[in-house]
Amino acid sequence: MKEIYIKIQAFLRKHDHLYTMFFAFFFIGMVYLIMLNQDGNQLAFSHLMYIPIVITGGILGGWYGLAIGIIAGLVAGPLMPWDLSTGEPQRAIDWIFRMSMMGVVGFLSGLLGRGYQQAISKINQIEAYDQNTRLHNLNYLRTLKMPYKISYTVASVEINNCELICDVLGIEAYVSYINRIANNLEKSLPYCVVVTPIFHQLWILVQQKDLESEIQIVMDAIHQATIIDGNPIFVDYSVGFATKRHLPGIDLSSHFMHADIAAKEAKKNFLTHMTYKDIKANMQFEFELLSDFSKSLHNGDIYMVYQPKVNLRTRQANGLEALIRWEHPTKRMIAPDQFIPAVEQTAMINDMTETVFRWVLEYQTRLKAKGLSVPISINISTKNLYNQQFYKQMVSIFNEFQINPNQVELEITETVLMENPDLCKKMLDEFSSFGFKIAVDDFGKGYSSLAYLAQFPINTIKIDRFFTKQILINPTTQTIVKATIDLAKNLGYEVLIEGIEDVETANLLDKLGCHSAQGYLFMKPKKEEEITEYLRKIYK
Ligand code: C2E
Ligand code: CA
Ligand code: CA
Repeated sequence: MKEIYIKIQAFLRKHDHLYTMFFAFFFIGMVYLIMLNQDGNQLAFSHLMYIPIVITGGILGGWYGLAIGIIAGLVAGPLMPWDLSTGEPQRAIDWIFRMSMMGVVGFLSGLLGRGYQQAISKINQIEAYDQNTRLHNLNYLRTLKMPYKISYTVASVEINNCELICDVLGIEAYVSYINRIANNLEKSLPYCVVVTPIFHQLWILVQQKDLESEIQIVMDAIHQATIIDGNPIFVDYSVGFATKRHLPGIDLSSHFMHADIAAKEAKKNFLTHMTYKDIKANMQFEFELLSDFSKSLHNGDIYMVYQPKVNLRTRQANGLEALIRWEHPTKRMIAPDQFIPAVEQTAMINDMTETVFRWVLEYQTRLKAKGLSVPISINISTKNLYNQQFYKQMVSIFNEFQINPNQVELEITETVLMENPDLCKKMLDEFSSFGFKIAVDDFGKGYSSLAYLAQFPINTIKIDRFFTKQILINPTTQTIVKATIDLAKNLGYEVLIEGIEDVETANLLDKLGCHSAQGYLFMKPKKEEEITEYLRKIYK
């Protein structure tokens, strides 16, 4: 039905000349008959001719107005006698003057009409199009009427490096890029609407048939548009998809909120696209985890495992790292990387770190009772450092135990130190003065330098396992690691390397002068009983 309506509309638009002229001739004919009926040209009925003249000129422009004016002048002129009963013709000067006036009026109304049409189309253009991108704007979307109660696929495309493209290739190149996307989409998806709510963003609305294929088409359209004259340009984009049912009274632009969220999430996760459904599933998973977390922290589902730190020369354990584990009753084993980022978004992270600290100190007390004095490190979250009370609470827990503070090491990631150096320095100075050791975790991931780290009271540098994986195959990595070890040692730091899984790497790092290491080669993180057994054998 809708297709027939669109076809009729297109036909009318294409043939507007035909039916305007038809109307003009019909009207002129009618006036002619009226004049015949009213005693020829003696009454003023000829003035009715101005109606079709003005309308035709107004719609079709000056030349059509002039032509219809002349035709009307002839019909009301030589074709219409002065006196019907006698057949006496009009004076030539009369009808020629009238015809000229009609021609002039037709021509002028044509000029005015065209001016008016141009002004209207300019206003429409400004109202419905973005003047920079030449694509439809938000205004257009808000006034658009789309069928109700059917589903739409909506996509939000964020061009993350828009500024760079404009700087390097010029604004025109960027505009033509997003116009190419719109053209590609319009070719592959009939009735799709593309708007630019803001310069670096595109919104796409498609009547939904099959979400998967629509995602594919949109992603292809964006990708294909990156090729200019056979050469690809680098475009960093993230796309969010959502599905929406359009209901009366709802602004179409509000449908894009979830697609925007999905695009932002895709960017955060370094993905080209994400659907809101996936995010919602993740959010639900996280929500369920957070609901269960506090209970699990105190009922034994969450517990600690320990991984030995090994002296590379003697291959003997010289400490442990405490790592958290969560054996969820229904979701099985949940990795720390899965739940810690969610817990970090809540105040529960303080409870978690303090509980972990207490468990570690309890374990150290049990080890001490067995004659085993072993330093243990615990991981501190970024969010802990933002808690003003953190230092006080940790010290108050520590004071419940009889452990030497130098047996406690706090691991802080390098990125935290870069994000908020002032706050970190203040807190770490306090911990260090109290006697705790401080280690920089995941060193090398954050691109800071050892010179930068010199402002913090650091004892150990833990080189990230990213380097360990590469060191045997990549000579550059070997050079970097060697330089880092040398410099760190010269600055008086203890150097530990993470993630050693084979003897060759362990031997190489020993040769490079690295003090200690952690990794599956020596031992995977294990529960307390196994670790105690392991330590007992070593220190026997
Ligand atoms: P991390 O602090 O860098 O811990 C080292 C991670 O590497 C651990 O993963 C450990 O199991 C793993 N690992 C050790 N040796 C090897 C190896 O040879 N090969 C490989 N592929 N991996 C190895 P895990 O236990 O899954 O912990 C992941 C991250 O979660 C930790 O990274 C740490 O950032 C965080 N985390 C763990 N426990 C805690 C905790 O109690 N508190 C806080 N705030 N974060 C924790
Ligand atoms: Ca760590
Ligand atoms: Ca690490």
